[in-house]
Amino acid sequence: MASGPDFKSLKEPTREERQLRCFRKRRYQSQGDALDAALVAGVERHRKAYLCPYCRKWHLTTV
Ligand SMILES: [Zn+2]
Repeated sequence: MASGPDFKSLKEPTREERQLRCFRKRRYQSQGDALDAALVAGVERHRKAYLCPYCRKWHLTTV
């Protein structure tokens, strides 16, 4: 079995990284708010709204 670097663990953000991302991101009260913001910015086709497990608000992520 090959024992190289674990690429999966390198690619997967750690819990801390996810949390940091949460703090840096803009929060939306609802999925609609998040999608509206993407629509206004004209990037709705490249953004997806998701419910954040850390702040329990919605963020936009790049698709
Ligand atoms: Zn969050």
